[in-house]
Amino acid sequence: MADGAVKSSTREFDVVVVGAGFSGLYMLHRLRGLGFSVRVYEAGDGVGGTWYWNRYPGARVDIESMEYSYSFSPDLADEWEWSERYASQPELLRYLNHVADRFDLRPDIQLNTRVTAARFDEASMRWNLKTSTGESISAKFCVMATGCLSIPKAPEFPGVENFKGATYSTSSWPKDGVDFTGMRVGVIGTGSSAIQSIPMIAAQAAHLTVFQRTPNFSVPAHNGPIDPALVEDWKEHREQYKDEARAAGFGIRMVEESTQTALEVSEDERRDVYETRWNRGGFALIGAYSDLIADKAANDTAVAFVAEKIASIVKDPKVADILTPKTYPIATKRLCVDTGYYATFNRDNVTLVDVGAAPIEAVTPTGLKTARAQYELDAIVFAIGFDAMTGALTGIDIRGRGGVSMKQKWAEGPKTYLGLMVCGFPNLFTVTGPGSPSVLCNMAVAIEQHVDWITDCISYLSDRQVGAIEATSGAEAEWVAHVNEVADGTLFPHANSWYMGANVPGKPRVFMPYIGGFPVYREKCEEVAAKGYEGFALTSAAHAS
Ligand code: FAD
Ligand code: NAP
Repeated sequence: MADGAVKSSTREFDVVVVGAGFSGLYMLHRLRGLGFSVRVYEAGDGVGGTWYWNRYPGARVDIESMEYSYSFSPDLADEWEWSERYASQPELLRYLNHVADRFDLRPDIQLNTRVTAARFDEASMRWNLKTSTGESISAKFCVMATGCLSIPKAPEFPGVENFKGATYSTSSWPKDGVDFTGMRVGVIGTGSSAIQSIPMIAAQAAHLTVFQRTPNFSVPAHNGPIDPALVEDWKEHREQYKDEARAAGFGIRMVEESTQTALEVSEDERRDVYETRWNRGGFALIGAYSDLIADKAANDTAVAFVAEKIASIVKDPKVADILTPKTYPIATKRLCVDTGYYATFNRDNVTLVDVGAAPIEAVTPTGLKTARAQYELDAIVFAIGFDAMTGALTGIDIRGRGGVSMKQKWAEGPKTYLGLMVCGFPNLFTVTGPGSPSVLCNMAVAIEQHVDWITDCISYLSDRQVGAIEATSGAEAEWVAHVNEVADGTLFPHANSWYMGANVPGKPRVFMPYIGGFPVYREKCEEVAAKGYEGFALTSAAHAS
């Protein structure tokens, strides 16, 4: 194994990990535990990934804290105490910093360093990387823990640079926070980030104007202090609950996925079930029936239920109507989980503007101009989302065999085998890459499964003196076809979502995550490994020069 020493001007490692979020931290811990030399490179000036960058007011997890936690260390789980049912961003960031300290990860993490290029050298079977700080690194393996939602979309509005007020992006919020007191604020977007921040900004600003292009479905979180009885129960049944989460389609135990279909029960019964789950909060609603994401008629019943809820909360019927989604099935865009979102539109200082009907034309020096009117603003908040799933990978100049770039390879949409590796890019792993359950799953569960699989794989290869592992083109093609086939059997492709790449102008429309369910996927990964990495080509280290 390499020792991480500086050789000429190039540093050498067994493994380079890019990104120090939930994925990168655990990846480092696992690999270092097996004696590999590892270095993590992180663009930010702190660890935590998503929870480092997204500091907007109201940011919190939409899966209950007890489930959105690492499960690999019972000691960590025992000593860490979540204060709320849905942890807030500051608490999540403290948790990830605690993990970095507790497992002494910091010495092997280099902050403020963006990996800009990675090139596979076919002769030595190693990756050569370049960083924004001008460093050269050589590693046998490269693990991209770069995140599915880590590259913000650029504001695509003419005139932004001429705006005289302040602009903010939810995905790179100032560390010291923002005081909107007395200001006229505009928020562009109504995805999860906006839906969490809008009630908070409305409570502080003199006036808030929300610019909505497409309404989203949102369900209440019913957040509050964590129930000590729940914590005790988890402590007692931790292993059982971990297994139950991994056996659930979305990797979330608390959703309680029903096996009943929506139309096999009476309307009254269905209403009661939806009401109970609405009152429980969070994603419980989509677990109500097994066919909600596959059958349009079933889905329509949940759509109607949420529409009624919006109408019952929002006092102005016209505003309620604009807030009600009508063009896509529920849950085919990420379901939002909120605290007081719809009720915020009852405030006198909040205005909703339908920019689906009259699009934003420009940012002006004093505000924002739509096809219908000019809005005077002191500050604009962009909550416009991410170049999801592929943006972080195509943003690095990654070149595999024959100098082919990842960008070229994915020009028509991402192609991977299991969301873990890409044909033509040996020894390069992607944590929660496209083609894996990733964002359709509790990410804590998805990340641990990927990191464990990658660790086992690297260990296997090392024990057997394997120089390179690479997805075969056949296995990759079959997996891509399977991912598409499964998606086509659901309602997901009916929405213009970021899952489809539809939020970024010019991005190919391909459903990117795997919707076959986490347990099915996990079993497939285990089977592949048990069969000596079926679908992968292994090359002996003796072939390296
Ligand atoms: P990230 O946390 O995104 O970390 C990736 C890191 O890689 C970043 O720090 C980034 O700076 C770094 N990086 C990227 N490219 C480079 C490069 N070229 N060089 C160096 N560093 C680089 N998931 C859930 O399951 N439940 C939730 O409730 C939930 N809430 C979310 C809320 C928000 C606001 C967002 C944006 C996402 C949320 N997610 C949620 C998804 C979330 O991204 C994952 O849960 C998880 O945090 C991902 O961890 P990660 O380490 O894989 O990626
Ligand atoms: P998003 O869901 O992609 O929402 C972006 C919003 O901006 C959408 O309403 C979009 O409208 C709008 N928008 C984008 N470009 C626009 C334009 N040119 N003009 C007008 N409107 C525009 O992004 P996000 O809210 O940051 O969330 C991304 C994902 O991160 C979520 O889906 C979720 O997975 C995760 N997340 C989770 C939480 C949580 O609750 N824990 C919080 C935040 C984020 P259109 O719909 O019309 O494109």
